[in-house]
Amino acid sequence: MSNANGKVIKVSGPLIVAGGMADCKMFDVVRVSESRLIGEIIELRGDKASIQVYEETGGIGPGDEVYSTGMPLSVELGPGLIESIFDGIQRPLNTLRDKSGDRIGRGVEVRALDHTKVWHFFPTASVGQELIPGDEIGYVQENEIIRHSIMVPAGLKGTLTAIKEGDYTIDEVVAKIKTATGDRDLTMVQKCSVRKGRPYFEKLAPATPMVTGQRVIDTFFPITKGGVAAVPGPFGSGKTVVQHQLAKWADADIIVYVGCGERGNEMTDVLNEFPELIDPKTGKPLMKRTVLIANTSDMPVAAREASIYTGITIAEYFRDMGYNVAIMADSTSRWAEALREMSGRLEEMPGEEGYPAYLSSRLAEFYERAGIVKVLGSKQKVGSVTAIGAVSPPGGDLSEPVSQATLRIVKVFWGLSAALAYKRHFPAIDWIQSYSLYSDRLSEWYNDNIGADWNVLRQKAMSILQEEATLDEIVRLVGMDALGAKDRLTMETAKTVREDYLHQNAFHEVDTYASLEKQLRMLKLIISYYELGQDALTKGVDIEDLVEIPVREQIGRAKYVEEKDVEQKFDEIEKELRKEISDLIG
Ligand code: ADP
Repeated sequence: MSNANGKVIKVSGPLIVAGGMADCKMFDVVRVSESRLIGEIIELRGDKASIQVYEETGGIGPGDEVYSTGMPLSVELGPGLIESIFDGIQRPLNTLRDKSGDRIGRGVEVRALDHTKVWHFFPTASVGQELIPGDEIGYVQENEIIRHSIMVPAGLKGTLTAIKEGDYTIDEVVAKIKTATGDRDLTMVQKCSVRKGRPYFEKLAPATPMVTGQRVIDTFFPITKGGVAAVPGPFGSGKTVVQHQLAKWADADIIVYVGCGERGNEMTDVLNEFPELIDPKTGKPLMKRTVLIANTSDMPVAAREASIYTGITIAEYFRDMGYNVAIMADSTSRWAEALREMSGRLEEMPGEEGYPAYLSSRLAEFYERAGIVKVLGSKQKVGSVTAIGAVSPPGGDLSEPVSQATLRIVKVFWGLSAALAYKRHFPAIDWIQSYSLYSDRLSEWYNDNIGADWNVLRQKAMSILQEEATLDEIVRLVGMDALGAKDRLTMETAKTVREDYLHQNAFHEVDTYASLEKQLRMLKLIISYYELGQDALTKGVDIEDLVEIPVREQIGRAKYVEEKDVEQKFDEIEKELRKEISDLIG
C-alpha cells in the first residue's frame, strides 16, 4: 500500500468524496481511513473522487486518509472457487464470519481463495512447448466432479521452460515460461478485473439449446447455451423454484448463483437452501459444481452493485476452460435499486423512477458478457456463459424501468404470472406472454437431433393454446354451449396441454425432469388426440363421447412415466388412443 493519496471531504452513506486524488484512475480500488475500508472510485472530477465503499462507513469523517491501491476491482481465480460462498466483492463469507463473528467486521483482510491450502497439480504441458494465452499447463481435480484447468493468463506467451507435478498452494510456482520480455513464473492463481469481460477468441452464434427438462421452457421458450433470459415475476410466483430447477437440471457444467436479496431472510434462505440441493446427475450436493455469491442485508448496497460483475467474471473464467456455465442473478431488481441509491448519492440527474439514465447500459454490460465463444488457447475449445436474471417488478408491473430495460436486452422472457400461481399452475410461466427469440434458430438443431416433427408439434400445441385464449373470450360472453364441436375439441385439447403438459411438478420424483425425447412423445400423444378427434368429428362422432374416452386419463398420467419406460408405455397409450377413437367411429 502506498502513502495516502487524498483525504475524505464528505461522507454520504456508502458514498465518500475525497480530495487530493489527482493521481488516481477511474475504478481504482482504494482503502479509506485507518479502518482500511474497501472502496472503488466511480467518478473523478479534477482532484475529487467519488468512492463507492463496500463496507459500513459509520465513524468515517472529513480528514480521514484515502489510499489508492492503483488496481481495479478484481477477483482471484484459481482452485478453491468451486463450493465457495462469497460476498459481492469476493470475500469468502465463511472465513469472514470465522474472523469477525456474525456481523462482518470492517476492513477485515481476507483473501478470496485459501492461500494455505495445498492442491495436487497435474501437468499437461511439456517443457519446450510454445504456449499462448488460454493454453492449459495442467489441472487440479478440485473435487470429484470439477477438473479445474490451470491456464496461461491473458497477455502472456512463450516457451515452457519448467513444469512440476505435486502438491502446491496457489501461490507456489508450478511452471516457468520464457517470454520475449524475460522469464515468467506461473502459479495456479490469476487476478482479473471484474468490470471488463475476459478476452476470448471469437463469439459464436448460439445454436444449441440449454436443455432444462422443464417442458414449458424446452418446448415453447427455449434458451440456448450462451443465451440470455429474464424471469420476471411477483413474490410467490415461483421464481426461486424455477431458478433451482434450472440450477439442478439444465445441462450446464457449472452454476454461478448471485443472490441479491433485499430482505435479510431472502438471502438467508439462499444460504440455507442452496447447499442442501442435491445434484440429480451425481447424487452429490449441487454445491460441488456451484459458486455462490450472496449479498446479505448487513452489507452495504455498493457490494450488491459489484456482485453481478464478480459473478460473471468467475463464470467467464470457467467458460475459458471449455465449460458450459450458467449464471443466475436473483434478483436484478435488487441490484438496480443499489444502482439507484448510489446514483442518488452522486446527485446525478435521475431518470425514470429515480433510476440513473445508465441503468440500461449497465444491465447490458452484464448480459452482453454471456455468449458461446471460441476461447483463447491453441486448442480452439468452445465454452459458454448462459445468463438468467430474475426480475421482481413491484406489483408484477412490467412497465417499470428495470423490467423494460431488461426486456430490451434479453432474448428469452419467461413471464411468471401471479394468476397462474394462484391457481397452482406451476411453473407459472405465462404461455401467451412469454417468448424466446431463439426458437427459430434452434429449429434446425431440433430437426437434426430430436426429430422433424418436433417443430411442427410444438407449433400446433402453441396455436391450440392461442386459439383457447380467443375462445375463452367467447365462452365468457356467451357460454360454452355456444361453441361448435370443433371448438370444444380445441378447448379440451388446450386443457390437456396446460394441465398435463405445461403443468410440471418440481417436487415429483419423475415429473421434475422430462428429456426432450419424452417431451416429444407427450406432444405427439396430445396432438394425435386432437387430430384423430377432428377426423372423428367429421365422421359424425359426438363431441361428448370424444371428451370422455378413457384413454385421456392415461394421457394425463403420461408425465409420470419413467424415462426408461417412455418408448414402450407411449407406444401402448398411442395404440389405445387409436383403438378407442376408431371404436367411436365404428
Ligand atoms: P418466489 O421466489 O417467486 O417468491 P417460490 O419460487 O418460492 O416463489 O414459489 C412459491 C411456492 O410455489 C413454492 O414454495 C412451491 O410450493 C410452489 N411452486 C413453485 N413452482 C413450483 C413447481 N414447479 N412445482 C411445484 N410447486 C411449485
